[in-house]
Amino acid sequence: MKRISVVVSSYNEELVLEQLYSELLAALSICKWDYEIVFVNDGSIDSSGRILRGFAERNPKVKVINLSRNFGHESAMIAGIDYAAGDGIICMDADLQHPPRYIPEIIEKFEEGCDIISMVRTKNKGGRLMKNMASDIFYKVLNHFSSMKFEENASDFFGISNRAADILRHEYRENVRFLRGFVQSIGYKSETIKYQAEKRAGGKCHYSIIRLFKFAVTILCGFSDIPLKIGIYSGIFASACGMILIVYSCIMKICFSVPSGYTTIIVALCFLFSLTLIVLGIIGEYITIILAEVKNRPIYIVEEILDFRTVNDCEKQYAEKKED
Ligand code: UDP
Ligand code: MG
Repeated sequence: MKRISVVVSSYNEELVLEQLYSELLAALSICKWDYEIVFVNDGSIDSSGRILRGFAERNPKVKVINLSRNFGHESAMIAGIDYAAGDGIICMDADLQHPPRYIPEIIEKFEEGCDIISMVRTKNKGGRLMKNMASDIFYKVLNHFSSMKFEENASDFFGISNRAADILRHEYRENVRFLRGFVQSIGYKSETIKYQAEKRAGGKCHYSIIRLFKFAVTILCGFSDIPLKIGIYSGIFASACGMILIVYSCIMKICFSVPSGYTTIIVALCFLFSLTLIVLGIIGEYITIILAEVKNRPIYIVEEILDFRTVNDCEKQYAEKKED
């Protein structure tokens, strides 16, 4: 029998954990697969640790990973994925904004052979207007500047097969992360399921607009090198404008009387600004290359190798090569 691992990252969620646990058990009890629940306690300072320990003591299918301190949502999810042992893994938040009732549908998709199941929000009941608008703009900008196309309104509620999880475990170990982006960039057979995000069941959101903005800028820089190229593009633009200005100033000097030193200042300014921006742009190009190397993302991910040659064929080929 196959097994699903449900990974839940939790930080100071004492008010919702009991309700989450009972909804998870209700959803998992009607599934075809066996289950394990991996709770990642991301350095909570409320009574979450005690509540989670209680679940693990009562139910051997519950694992609790206590992190040494608060590392943030993404790190907690990665820890959960690392320790999950199921054939399929579902990541979700603890606050019930990601309703456990969708779990059977996700398992159906795994049964159909899907590796990546992205849960896409249709309505965000609990979302603030500002936050929803900011999220829309963020995805539009990201999709415009990045070579990857990301599912708009995708959330940190997703399913991944064990082989996709292995890629995250071994290949995507960057410190600057965007987990749902990594998940979507793996490839394999992917599907989306639409869902209605619920209101937070209790407690309060941990992410302010400023924290989300900082996160958005980091992601943009992580998935697009356009910001680094601004230097070279503006340098080229400044050079073109500068050339026009230089020609114009020279004509003015020859044909009309202009204050002494004016032309020299204009020519020097245009030249130096263009040079500075172009040099900055070139440095940007090098940093882009260094960044790509340091990130060490996989160059490719093999889905399957089809090789219908028999052992005899291989030996024959090898012998022929040797003779040559
Ligand atoms: N979370 C976490 N570590 C943190 C902050 C949040 O594990 O440092 C968890 C939190 O308990 C919740 C999920 O990440 O299960 C999403 O957090 P939150 O609901 O505050 O964010 P939002 O849903 O508004 O994006
Ligand atoms: Mg939430």
